[in-house]
Amino acid sequence: MNRRESYLDWNATAPLRPEAAAAITAALAHCGNPSSVHRWGRRARQMVEGARETIALLIGVDPESVVFVSGGTEANHLALLGSGRRRVLVSAVEHSSVLQAVPDADRIAVDSRGIVDLPRFEDQLAADPRPALVSVMLANNETGLIEPVTDIAAVAHRHGALFHCDAVQAAGKIPVDVAKIGADLVSLSAHKLGGPSGIGALIVRGAAELTPMIRGGGQERGRRAGSENLPGIAGFAAAARAAMDGLADYERVRELRDSLEALLLEAAPEAVVIGAGAPRLPNTAAIALPSVSAETQVIALDLDGVMVSAGAACSSGKVGPSHVLQAMGFPPEIAGSTIRVSLGWSTTAAEIDHFLQAWMTMYRRISASGAAARAA
Ligand code: PLP
Repeated sequence: MNRRESYLDWNATAPLRPEAAAAITAALAHCGNPSSVHRWGRRARQMVEGARETIALLIGVDPESVVFVSGGTEANHLALLGSGRRRVLVSAVEHSSVLQAVPDADRIAVDSRGIVDLPRFEDQLAADPRPALVSVMLANNETGLIEPVTDIAAVAHRHGALFHCDAVQAAGKIPVDVAKIGADLVSLSAHKLGGPSGIGALIVRGAAELTPMIRGGGQERGRRAGSENLPGIAGFAAAARAAMDGLADYERVRELRDSLEALLLEAAPEAVVIGAGAPRLPNTAAIALPSVSAETQVIALDLDGVMVSAGAACSSGKVGPSHVLQAMGFPPEIAGSTIRVSLGWSTTAAEIDHFLQAWMTMYRRISASGAAARAA
């Protein structure tokens, strides 16, 4: 087995940034509940409020709008279930934590590029006068495709709807300006940008009022009770700051991703790069090898030390045809045969070479066994 290991699954979780590790260690050494009035409590409160300001800066919002929660999944649930809107519309390509928060929500269709069909969406929204909540992600976790969220927010507001945007995958990879987007609610997760797992934020702006899901001690201005996760919050802020400072690194990441796709297509013209040519995150490549199950590909690459995901892998590790690719109209031989290769700030050209070697080994073996089967 190849002893080299190349981690190309950054959209699942990113390595902890050294700055975050240092901030977590410092926060762990501090005893004090931010709600306590004494000096250690006040010091903890300062750490939380400083972190809130950093997160706010990352995406251009007021610090008061930042509500710390346990991660992207909770942020999405709080947005969808706490908004008080009975009518909910979600795009068909949302993360499962949005789709399953309100299973009977109306689905907003996407076109073959994975992008919300705006005129159709507006008709759908106008068809029912009840005040609604609309949820569309900024960037897709499987394909990296970027939705026209500013236009979607404008349509939502024109019809009196609130707009929620899951920016979990976008934050830290591309500039995110929430005021420019015009989103009322925004979800963030620390571990996607180099912070620890188990911490995230929901941004609550403007007209959005929130009914808390978790009640008790009144923390987070009554919007999310429970003693604050001080090390998590400190690590989140340190990672967010490092991500802001390192946004320019993603141009290098984009070049690596683009060369990976180009070399792979040159060697295997039947491979399909999903969303090629469309606005996409710079770090994500979704690549189909038609009729070869994504699971088979992920296992073959892992045996060679290369870690990627099947587009539709969920936490149980179960892999099915991707709902995202199905919503884009791809047939099962593509929707079940797409792997996601996701890069990050420390990805090297050597890791991309390693991926390409492992992929080519797998491809030649599969092609040879296909040829042998046809000859038999
Ligand atoms: N939203 C998107 C787009 C995601 O990719 C993820 C995680 O994969 C989540 C939400 C959930 O975030 P968390 O793992 O912090 O609960």
